Amino acid sequence: MQIFETRDDLQKTLATCRQSGQHIGLVPTMGNLHEGHLALVDAARKQCQYVLSTIFVNPLQFGPGEDLDNYPKTLESDYELLASRHCDGVFVPAVSEMYPNGINNQTLVSVPTLSRHHCGLSRPGHFEGVCTIVSKLFNLTMPDMAFFGEKDYQQLQIIKKMTTDLCIPVKVVGVPTQRTESGLAMSSRNNYLEDRQVSIAANLQRSLKMTVEKLKQGETNFSALELDAGEFLTTAGLKVDYFNISHAVTLEPAGARDSNLVILAAVFLGKTRLIDNIRVQL
Ligand code: AMP
Repeated sequence: MQIFETRDDLQKTLATCRQSGQHIGLVPTMGNLHEGHLALVDAARKQCQYVLSTIFVNPLQFGPGEDLDNYPKTLESDYELLASRHCDGVFVPAVSEMYPNGINNQTLVSVPTLSRHHCGLSRPGHFEGVCTIVSKLFNLTMPDMAFFGEKDYQQLQIIKKMTTDLCIPVKVVGVPTQRTESGLAMSSRNNYLEDRQVSIAANLQRSLKMTVEKLKQGETNFSALELDAGEFLTTAGLKVDYFNISHAVTLEPAGARDSNLVILAAVFLGKTRLIDNIRVQL
């Protein structure tokens, strides 16, 4: 597996790939890789001849007081995992390589409508940071396809819309959420959890599934369902950031006539913030 630290080296190799007709698949990550990330690599491997992963903890998408400085870094084991899944190359730029003019002097990309609820509300500026780095990576690597996890449902919808709205010729592919046996969505942030917290965290997925059941039984009072789920989570020891029954495409609060839904949720367990979601078709 090739390791690139500079944009120049990366672009030279990708130009050669392109000339020889290889399709490039991009898998952007922040590292500390687990099976969730590797499912994206597997999906890319099936569809593209050259699979490029990126590992970059993007300072622009972290707010003040968030975990930028403590974000887990496990580069050597990340390389081993990527190589074991036959990833062809990994780009690990320094912050100065991605933001040569500094992060405070950076053109920003924003998808305001889809960013105004859920994580966008709790983490102001987060999605501008994500859209900006993803646009930069798209322009640098000009992939044919790019792979993102459905675990970050709002992010996936935002990146799809950004790509369409800005006429970026990249096919954005969503990959299903990978979970542990208890149902907890895999996440680098699960590493912050103590053993006893891991079993508490599994209640997040439980609350989503319970709400789906009630929706399928015909419950139409969405606010009451959100409150019930909130109570369940609080009793389980989780602090609710949001629990929203939303339209799956617009991400706006769902109305009684909507049938294509997603439930988006974020909770705190101690200082650790966890997110999850579930799709519902009524
Ligand atoms: P991150 O390193 O957390 O920024 O994640 C990089 C990519 O991996 C994003 O597209 C995430 O949605 C995806 N991802 C993270 N966790 C999972 C998971 N449990 N299942 C599927 N994809 C995931």
